[in-house]
Amino acid sequence: MQNQSALMANYGHPDLQFSRGQGCYLYTEAGDAYLDFTAGIAVNCLGHCHPHLVSTLQTQAETLWHTSNLFSNIPTERLAKRLVEKSFADRVFFANSGTEAVECGFKMMRRFHYHHGRKERVRIITLAQSFHGRTLAPVAACRNPLHTEGFLVGDGGFDQVPFGDLEALRQAVTEQTAGVILEPVQGEGGIRPVTAEYLKAVRALCDEHGILLMFDEVQSGMGRTGYLFAHEALGVTPDVLASAKGLGGGFPIGACLSTERVAEVMTAGTHGSTFGGNPLATSVGNAVMDVLTDPGFLETVTERSTQLRAGLDKLIKRYPKVLAEHTGLGLMVGLRCVASNADLIKAMQKNHLLAVKAGGNSIRLLPPLVVSPREIDEALNSLEKACASLPV
Ligand code: PLP
Repeated sequence: MQNQSALMANYGHPDLQFSRGQGCYLYTEAGDAYLDFTAGIAVNCLGHCHPHLVSTLQTQAETLWHTSNLFSNIPTERLAKRLVEKSFADRVFFANSGTEAVECGFKMMRRFHYHHGRKERVRIITLAQSFHGRTLAPVAACRNPLHTEGFLVGDGGFDQVPFGDLEALRQAVTEQTAGVILEPVQGEGGIRPVTAEYLKAVRALCDEHGILLMFDEVQSGMGRTGYLFAHEALGVTPDVLASAKGLGGGFPIGACLSTERVAEVMTAGTHGSTFGGNPLATSVGNAVMDVLTDPGFLETVTERSTQLRAGLDKLIKRYPKVLAEHTGLGLMVGLRCVASNADLIKAMQKNHLLAVKAGGNSIRLLPPLVVSPREIDEALNSLEKACASLPV
């Protein structure tokens, strides 16, 4: 397949191709089923072709596709209101992806200080091993050499400190600092949650210096951790938050949420996106919200997480040369490996279980949030076979 592909090679050459998805399974053209614990990298939060999402999209497709932001539309206004009602935020900007939601937040943090006459406050502090996206500002923010080499001019206005090191963060704040961005649970970096104590101290530090705190919940948000947003579990609210991935359940959408005092600086003409707030995307976003806010839904995420993690505990004991520990919150599960994470993923794939690589020699198990107890048992069985098959 790869030799005939007209696609650029920036994703390597995937050796699996899927032609259909249903619930927690993906199917090849030949009909082979794979249990999908990637969920499109934490995107398909309701699995593949969830009936409520399908019917919502079909209805919207026959009603209104696109107007641009020259005009307002009903599903977009509705989704913004619902996100505000269910979060710390007062206002929402819709984008099309996670990186754009993050970019919007960066711009808002700078513009906030500019608006208040503190034009020197332009620099943003980030944490090592973070991932905020692939457009130029997030790439500069994260400083991963693989993502920056040959792309960047200067440092883009970012300072970086070690993960979880409060003193280093304190030292990094200067008269030029506009704000701090962090993932409450690092995703690509290896499913690492910050502690509640650290996050509370970061909030206090930001308040002390009059700088802004932004959370990137592109991966950890939309029910993934058993909370609508992961920071709810840690008891700290941000000024700005980026959301995407699960927000559209597979339809591209991003959103930047903020409090009123930050949002008020984004006056007419300061920012925009042709496709942002597209009614196809926001109607699907509303359908996702219908399910996530159904009473009891988030509790089942926590129940499934408990089942999965109990099974992982057993496998870690049984295969100490393959697996070291599980990390994360809810169904945002990291599995730190002793054996090579790439080898384990390959072995899992042979057993028809799909997972994603992450930093720190770990793998991510990110099942759809609608995963059943039976599917979790099936995944644990496949993982056990994969562990047993590795030559350690
Ligand atoms: N932020 C986080 C925490 C992410 O995990 C990702 C994607 O993996 C992004 C931002 C970028 O999102 P997108 O790929 O939709 O631009």
